[in-house]
Amino acid sequence: MSENIRIALAGNPNAGKTTLFNALTGSNQFVGNWPGVTVEKKEGKLKKHDGVVVTDLPGIYSLSPYTLEEVVARNYLVGERPDVILNIVDATNLERNLYLTTQLVELGIPVVIALNMMDLVKKSGDKINTEELSRQLGCKIVEISALKGTGVMEAAEEAIKAAGEIKTVPQHTFSGPVEHAIAHIEEAVVHSLPDEQQRWYAIKVFERDDKVLESLKLDKASLEHIETDIKSAEKELDDDAESIITNERYVYIAGILKSSYKKHDSGILSQSDKIDRIVTNRWLGLPIFAVIMFFVYWLSMVGIGASATDWANDGLFGDGWHLFGIGSSAYEEAAEEYGDTPAILEALEAGEKTYVTVDDETLETSDPIEITDEVAAEAKSMAEKYGEEGPDPASYGVWVPGIPVLVGNLLEKLGTSEWLSGLILDGIVAGVGAVLGFVPQMLVLFLLLAFLEACGYMARIAFVLDRIFRKFGLSGKSFIPMLVGTGCGVPGIMASRTIENERDRRMTIMTTTFIPCGAKVPFIAMISGAIFGGSAWVSTSAYFIGMAAIIISGIMLKKTKMFSGNPAPFVMELPSYHLPTVGNVLRSMWERGWSFIKKAGSIILLSTIVVWFTSFFGWTEEGFGMLAEDQLDSSILAKIGSCIAWIFAPLGWGNWQAAVASITGLVAKENIVGTMGILYGSGELTAYQALAQAFTTVTGFSFLVFNLLCAPCFAAIGAIKREMNNAKWTWFAICYQCGFAYLISLIVTQFGNLFAGNVNVVGLVFAIASVCVIFYMLFFKKYSEATKLTANVVK
Ligand code: GDP
Ligand code: MG
Repeated sequence: MSENIRIALAGNPNAGKTTLFNALTGSNQFVGNWPGVTVEKKEGKLKKHDGVVVTDLPGIYSLSPYTLEEVVARNYLVGERPDVILNIVDATNLERNLYLTTQLVELGIPVVIALNMMDLVKKSGDKINTEELSRQLGCKIVEISALKGTGVMEAAEEAIKAAGEIKTVPQHTFSGPVEHAIAHIEEAVVHSLPDEQQRWYAIKVFERDDKVLESLKLDKASLEHIETDIKSAEKELDDDAESIITNERYVYIAGILKSSYKKHDSGILSQSDKIDRIVTNRWLGLPIFAVIMFFVYWLSMVGIGASATDWANDGLFGDGWHLFGIGSSAYEEAAEEYGDTPAILEALEAGEKTYVTVDDETLETSDPIEITDEVAAEAKSMAEKYGEEGPDPASYGVWVPGIPVLVGNLLEKLGTSEWLSGLILDGIVAGVGAVLGFVPQMLVLFLLLAFLEACGYMARIAFVLDRIFRKFGLSGKSFIPMLVGTGCGVPGIMASRTIENERDRRMTIMTTTFIPCGAKVPFIAMISGAIFGGSAWVSTSAYFIGMAAIIISGIMLKKTKMFSGNPAPFVMELPSYHLPTVGNVLRSMWERGWSFIKKAGSIILLSTIVVWFTSFFGWTEEGFGMLAEDQLDSSILAKIGSCIAWIFAPLGWGNWQAAVASITGLVAKENIVGTMGILYGSGELTAYQALAQAFTTVTGFSFLVFNLLCAPCFAAIGAIKREMNNAKWTWFAICYQCGFAYLISLIVTQFGNLFAGNVNVVGLVFAIASVCVIFYMLFFKKYSEATKLTANVVK
């Protein structure tokens, strides 16, 4: 058997590496992790070729040692030295992609370029002179489309050919002073290495790359010697060594592209450019974004979503509903005519002269109303017309009973024991049903977000925000994880991998989950529905509070030593606007929605069972046993809740139910609604009515803010731990999130109460102190030396 040939696939993220890798290897793949780190390692045998192994390296923008991906890719290339590098280049993004290429060709390993996405280039009408490009870069280029499968095997065969052949020699040179220094360095410290590797090492030494300097184990004298060479080049070119190299690479690339790349119809503003002029405008960008997000939340929470959720909550998971809505209005008219009849009759029977009415939503009782003879007669005739029970919805259309009614009837027929029907009705149906009731609203929200993402608008927002973020030492890159986090925090946290700077990455991991994810939508909608009359402002404000929390935290953390440093340059291509395909948007909506429904069927089901058992069992005067609905205060859960409720007392909602709901929210945020459905919905009142009684607008909002910002669910905490790869940082993140949430909701409660006219002096003092600390961090504390706020923006 011949010796193995090892082909390494290297390229920028999203250049199409995975697509090419799959096309080359088919099903002969082995997936594992790179030794010692969590970056995925994929290897596979080349189709129809014995003894050729393809390795998919992590996607990288350069060979600098800043991200984990870069270190892994670089260690592999430098340490293992594959026989050939197949550099996949996204032809629609030549400038950025070739930056990596200029570094790969310096390694002294044969390089073949697979120029990918040629289908798109041809479609756009751009012209690439491949021969010229190949000549200038000094390596073979094969045009391919990984997606369509064209040219893929030819590229691999070229790579195999190159593996046996001569080395690739870099064609570009740096400016005089740099080359002068590099020559000195080669002479002084790397001459013992194989010829073809010397240049790469010398350039890295010139850049003062720590890891390379370490690996060379230089003595003090040579270090000092090369330092004078580097210094003199820096002085001559008036920049630091690393920036000199970066700039010269880009200048070189710009030069090559001038002679080998021609963009179609340059000069004329495309439709996309015209839209961008407004949408990414310095002043209009943010207001437009705010209006769009308000509209998105309004549509999903109030416009379309609310009626669907009303149906799901009151109909499907409530008493029942009229099929196709036929008969609903006739029934409502009758119900209105029937009106206060029961209250009047009851009062008459008791021999009273007045009666009171109770508002369905607020549960407020009216002032006593006098019963005149006229009123009494009217009530009697109503009772005759509709019967003592009032109008029956079933006589106005096809009445479909809700799930709780159906399940209740079934259980009664089966004669199940009291505790079992309690578990099923008050536990599972009430808990899981409360969560599932929000699915319609959530699907509408996901649909709209998926549309904004797919049409290219969200990419613009990252760009708009970068301009603002950068003023505070943050990068717009932190926005991408946030965007992903609106669906679910777990992939959001994972998306932070694209951030080069370790400190910024940690910071983003810590703050991403502030944004309301899909699982938080139900409780936000519940609070807004029960306490704020369903106002769209509440849910929209949740989104902007989440975003503000990220920005405020970012600024505060950035000013500490732990997180100081320059933001990474933000490089992102703005895709042109396009109408997304219906299938894509629906698929994205369904993926998010379905994972939500699956969760309701597993982890939330389990949690509601636990919550039900612990809330309906407990100690009474007769000893341990099942409790009646008005005895929940003696339950196990109430005992546990009371032990921790004091913690939340300063936030204004120190009752055990709310405390318990926040804790179960750590398992999964949907549980907040499920738990409240069980704990508040089991008495005479509906859960909404009970909530409206238990919370004021101030404490309700404070509860919302706390649960929005505090530590995320276990799954997301697990993701934080994996990405931090460090227990201390994980705990720091959790504590920061909880502490921040606590302070902000303390501020909301205390100042809210102050305006409502009931002052708690101690609480207010703490709230004012918190505001002062935050203000100090935001406006007065200085950035450390390490953070230069003038960092250049790369568009
Ligand atoms: P990776 O991040 O480098 O692994 O990139 P992927 O293989 O995941 O590809 C990124 C995106 O580019 C995917 O949506 C692919 O479908 C798309 N893509 C890859 N190759 C081509 C191509 O040749 N033409 C077109 N039009 N799209 C491609
Ligand atoms: Mg990939």
